[in-house]
Amino acid sequence: MKLSRRNFLKLVSAMGASAFLTTYKADLVKALEEVKDYYHLCWINGASCTGCTISFAQLGDPDLVSVLTDILVGNSGLPMALPDYMETIHPAAGTVAEDGIERWKNAKTTKILVVEGAVQDPGFCTVHRGYENGRLVEVDFRDRLLECAKVADVIIAVGQCATFGGIPAAKPWDGEPNPTNAKGVQEFLYENGINKTVINIPCCPVNPDHLIIVLSAVLLGVDIELDEHNRPKMFFGRNMHKEICPYRPYYDRGIFVTKPGEEGCRFKMGCKGPICNTDCALRKWNNGTSYCVETNICIGCAEPGWPDKFSPFYAEVPELPKVFGVGAETIGEGLLGATLLGIGIHAVRHLGAKKHKKEEEE
Ligand code: SF4
Ligand code: SF4
Ligand code: SF4
Repeated sequence: MKLSRRNFLKLVSAMGASAFLTTYKADLVKALEEVKDYYHLCWINGASCTGCTISFAQLGDPDLVSVLTDILVGNSGLPMALPDYMETIHPAAGTVAEDGIERWKNAKTTKILVVEGAVQDPGFCTVHRGYENGRLVEVDFRDRLLECAKVADVIIAVGQCATFGGIPAAKPWDGEPNPTNAKGVQEFLYENGINKTVINIPCCPVNPDHLIIVLSAVLLGVDIELDEHNRPKMFFGRNMHKEICPYRPYYDRGIFVTKPGEEGCRFKMGCKGPICNTDCALRKWNNGTSYCVETNICIGCAEPGWPDKFSPFYAEVPELPKVFGVGAETIGEGLLGATLLGIGIHAVRHLGAKKHKKEEEE
């Protein structure tokens, strides 16, 4: 099937991103050649570890060099992912680099803002410090984000920190509230009267294929359907455990493993696949090499409330409907199906025993 705006999303959903990108790279390149106006990209960082930048740099096929040099947009002669400003891997430094932000803000064509990292209370994240006319000037990330978001045509939050707060928003070890009050970009913008929709691409780190496909969709003018957490449905519209995990047949047969390397379902190791909506099992990472469950477990990093609501990572998912309020039917159906078929006895017994123990305690 040839790549067109109409079937773009259908194709992306139907196949793994690496497979999609590899198979349709030539078509994608051709489609991008027909884009009318070049767009401008600005990538800013808040409370982050820059792992999402590193993840983006690991893009497989096309690779980073291609999107930065070879794949051109329209007749601009410019590549598809050359940012006007990108703090972490900016080729320029000092004032020249900082001028990039102003250039981006004043650009006449589509302005895309990519945000990596959470937003914290004032004073926790200074992104610029310098002297102007002999006076010390400091810029808080909050102010930079607001300035940029006001003029942006498209805002994309990459990674768990920028989407939902992630690790910077986690509770400290003593269980006290997070002292920095870190939160995701969309929540912060709403609080500050900017009612623009942020496209959320979570996971820790962001999957580079997710980002390049979203960028392509934006350039091609394809409407991206979002779920209730503003995540593209084409990536996060399916429950991994229910729909795409290759270990699901083991779950249905009650074959569970207790340590990595064994062949079976990882439910008893604490796998959060049953409460995680993501296509990681299909998309995979590192150019389709592998994903978390193949080597260990899913810890749920595509979901809001991570990591606190998903901790401890190595504990079995308890009482799904009450604790997480998502995908209650997912495991229910799995267990019911297994029971009806006379298989999956293990899992049923285990949950039954847990319930019994709880009733005794009460
Ligand atoms: S989402 Fe993960 S990898 Fe990305 S900045 Fe946050 S902590 Fe780092
Ligand atoms: S519990 Fe995890 S490993 Fe097992 S089937 Fe579900 S998603 Fe796959
Ligand atoms: S498999 Fe789970 S833990 Fe791994 S990246 Fe995907 S959502 Fe995150």
